[in-house]
Amino acid sequence: MLFLSRILVSVLFLAVTAPVVAASSTSINGENRGIALRWRSAKLKIAVSSSLATESTSIKPASDVDGAIARSFERWRQATGIEFEIVNSGRTNVSPSGPTGDGVSLITIAPSQANLSVFAAGAADVPATTRIFFSRQGYISEADIVLNPTQVFSTDGTFGTFDLEAVLVHEIGHLLGLEHAPISGAMMYRSQARNGHFASPAPNREISPADIAAARALYGSIDPDVECCFAVDVATGAGFAKGTSVVWAEEADTGRVVAAANPQPERTRTSLEGLTAGNYKIYVQNSINGATRSALVPVVIESGGRDRTVKTLPDAAASAAELEFIGTNGQLSKMPLTLDAGRTHTVLIAGKGIDAKSLTIGSTSPFVRVVTESARPLDYGEKIEAISVEVAVAADALPGSYTLIATDRSGAAIYFPAAINIPSR
Ligand SMILES: [Zn+2]
Repeated sequence: MLFLSRILVSVLFLAVTAPVVAASSTSINGENRGIALRWRSAKLKIAVSSSLATESTSIKPASDVDGAIARSFERWRQATGIEFEIVNSGRTNVSPSGPTGDGVSLITIAPSQANLSVFAAGAADVPATTRIFFSRQGYISEADIVLNPTQVFSTDGTFGTFDLEAVLVHEIGHLLGLEHAPISGAMMYRSQARNGHFASPAPNREISPADIAAARALYGSIDPDVECCFAVDVATGAGFAKGTSVVWAEEADTGRVVAAANPQPERTRTSLEGLTAGNYKIYVQNSINGATRSALVPVVIESGGRDRTVKTLPDAAASAAELEFIGTNGQLSKMPLTLDAGRTHTVLIAGKGIDAKSLTIGSTSPFVRVVTESARPLDYGEKIEAISVEVAVAADALPGSYTLIATDRSGAAIYFPAAINIPSR
């Protein structure tokens, strides 16, 4: 989070990463493991360590720990149909890295040496890590969730603590085999914010449509009437930057972000998986060496049609502008801004080349209307350029993530995918 003032222009991130450490014979990072991981069974037994039941200095006293655990698994049961049997356990330690674990999938917060070692160099501030054991065929045999004993968790939104339920929802995604999503509006985004982000009253605990598509790609659709699944492959390749390029799909009529993927420069295609039949707009954006290019193409996926569509997106003009931060009330962040439906909000947008005179801000959704003439430049010093703009969210907006767009005078468009999050009511 960035507090804007004329004096302070440093960037301070509250959001911290929660990497998945996948362990087979080698330790593979969750971003790029080359093989889809999933459970073979649709009913999983999860052991909750007594370290979560007894008073832990890492959990705010009187927190609803059992409720947070139950609700976080229930969210994934509703999304995937997988049943979870939660049992209590006297175990405290994550299984050590190696080809196999002890076969017990454990959630623990015990401040033991074994658990603390998971948060070694560079990972001291992450709220949790999930260690996965899997076979050569990609079947998961065990997944241990270690909540970082050096952090503080709560269930009532206490400022500066991690929301236990939100962290568990993210880690259970890893437990199920999901990797990180490249858009900040997804529960599986690599960063999670501590409570107090934008002074927002409620932490985001919801599984987004893009997360559900990723889960559908592994486990199929929970709804027997929904034909599943389709994929769209977009031609990308060596010219695409890791980390600053993204491919995503939006529902054509609502603009809701429903799938996203990170191009890998060493691969010629980027796949959006887990889609259902429908009309979509597929976007690609690539920022490299200070130039951002974006393009979009409509795709119709017909019921009963081919399960894989390949698209090459048109070349686009480059823009030097970059949308990097969004916020409100003098705070900016890379995390999405939660806006309530049926209200008009003052939104701050910042980044490189963000000039109210040369850029027109808009959205890709009919639910999110940017009042163009309300755009005002903000003077926060030389290092960051920001504008404020009024954003009206329709009363009937569907919950989900929505994208902002900035168009320059030459017509070049740059996107801030999933910058706005509309919560369910
Ligand atoms: Zn993670």
